[in-house]
Amino acid sequence: CGIVGYIGKRDVAPLLLEGLARLEYRGYDSAGMVITSPKSTGLKMVKAKGRVRDLEARVPKRFTGTTGIAHTRWATHGAPSDVNSHPHMDPENKVAVVHNGIVDNAAELRAKLEADGVVFASETDTEVLTHLIARSQAETLEEKVREALKVVEGTYGIAVMHADFNDRIVVARNGSPVVLGIGEKEMLVASDVAALIAHTRQIVTLDDGEMATLKADDFRTYTTSGTLTTATPETVEWEA
Ligand code: GLU
Repeated sequence: CGIVGYIGKRDVAPLLLEGLARLEYRGYDSAGMVITSPKSTGLKMVKAKGRVRDLEARVPKRFTGTTGIAHTRWATHGAPSDVNSHPHMDPENKVAVVHNGIVDNAAELRAKLEADGVVFASETDTEVLTHLIARSQAETLEEKVREALKVVEGTYGIAVMHADFNDRIVVARNGSPVVLGIGEKEMLVASDVAALIAHTRQIVTLDDGEMATLKADDFRTYTTSGTLTTATPETVEWEA
């Protein structure tokens, strides 16, 4: 339902919680986030069924980082529960995915992955994306995501983090809105400008079939087939 992501220098957990709160008006049944930092070797996750304040109550002490992705879920596949909340991670905790939309061929992809020995943690359609990305042999995170999206049918706005590529967030859009917020030595992503305008008014709206890589001081956009696209930020006017 709602996505917020940030990469920069600020303490990311409070910033993501505040962003999620700005998306609450859309409705949701659970919330979660994954964070990391350039010096950290792994991804840290917290998620909870319920409200953003229930998630906030569950955030452990010293849950610090400067990069993260967060989600409010409106369940379509699998009941609202802690485990079905996003982000979804692979068993090795390398990949984290938040997803808006519906993977139409999730049952078929799940059956194939399970036949290959993959054990699913949740009942969601989203988790197939996590495993497809984690199992990709491609060298870059961008290619891993692109490979996964090739076999996925349906709608998505996604944001992806990877422990081995923790200088970036990779996002993609097909039928579910994704907007980038361009800051000074910090970049944001969200499903709705409402989560961005407290931080920047410089916005790039992704098209269907478009992806982006966000780094703290740089971003680029390209198609799902890898061709670079031009994205000139627009200044949004917003009455706070
Ligand atoms: N289909 C996904 C799920 O049920 C995402 C739902 C959403 O857009 O929040 O987990």
